[in-house]
Amino acid sequence: MRIILLGPPGAGKGTQAARIVEKYEIPHISTGDIFRQNIKDGTELGTKAKEYMDQGKLVPDELTVGLVSDRLAKDDCKNGFMLDGFPRNVTQAVHLDEFLRGEGIKLDSVINIEVDKDKLVNRIIGRRICKDCGATFHVEFNPPKVEGVCDLCGGELMQRADDTEATVSKRIQVYLDQTTPLIDYYSTQKIIKDIDGDQDIDKVFEDISSALDNVK
Ligand code: ADP
Ligand code: AMP
Repeated sequence: MRIILLGPPGAGKGTQAARIVEKYEIPHISTGDIFRQNIKDGTELGTKAKEYMDQGKLVPDELTVGLVSDRLAKDDCKNGFMLDGFPRNVTQAVHLDEFLRGEGIKLDSVINIEVDKDKLVNRIIGRRICKDCGATFHVEFNPPKVEGVCDLCGGELMQRADDTEATVSKRIQVYLDQTTPLIDYYSTQKIIKDIDGDQDIDKVFEDISSALDNVK
């Protein structure tokens, strides 16, 4: 199964991704996670990416597309993968299509998680992620059993550096300007499935599962 998860920041992509990869046994490739890991490791890529991420802008394509093709060329992606947060604009989608064509493979589905703009800010501001395993929680909508502690690994929960009031509106605007054209792009390929992301987390997963089970 080869899947893309599309949707605005805060739509629930990462939350659903954790469940999808478990069910379909495919690797979860999140460009945001890759950049955050590079920042943590103090790499040159991390330093460059941070400059853009802190401003709520997209990291330039030249730093992003090669990194994704290299990751997709790895052995664990042979039987499928789930891309989360990539592509983010039409240039990236075209690069991805070229890569897939070169490999003689096709995407099975693009899951487009829809949530109204006015709900996104609260979701992003209340998001907490585990420092150690990256699991996602929300102080109100998906709280951990013990405040500040990851349910999965016991790690400390923290707020992402870019989850601030200052960058949220910028990130939503970047999504509207640069990422929403992908909805038409993948509609033309007839592989997009719209999912109502403004429902209980379990119900959203149920809807995604039915959509994916239908393309299997
Ligand atoms: P994305 O990866 O699309 O930016 P996340 O999966 O990190 O979004 O979710 C953003 C925040 O919203 C997180 O704090 C998460 O716990 C919360 N969240 C995710 N799905 C839902 C939902 N269906 N209802 C309410 N809150 C949700
Ligand atoms: P995310 O974890 O998907 O919310 O992404 C966090 C930030 O990482 C974004 O606001 C961008 O700055 C950067 N980023 C993640 N994926 C991409 C991508 N495909 N292209 C450009 N920038 C990205």
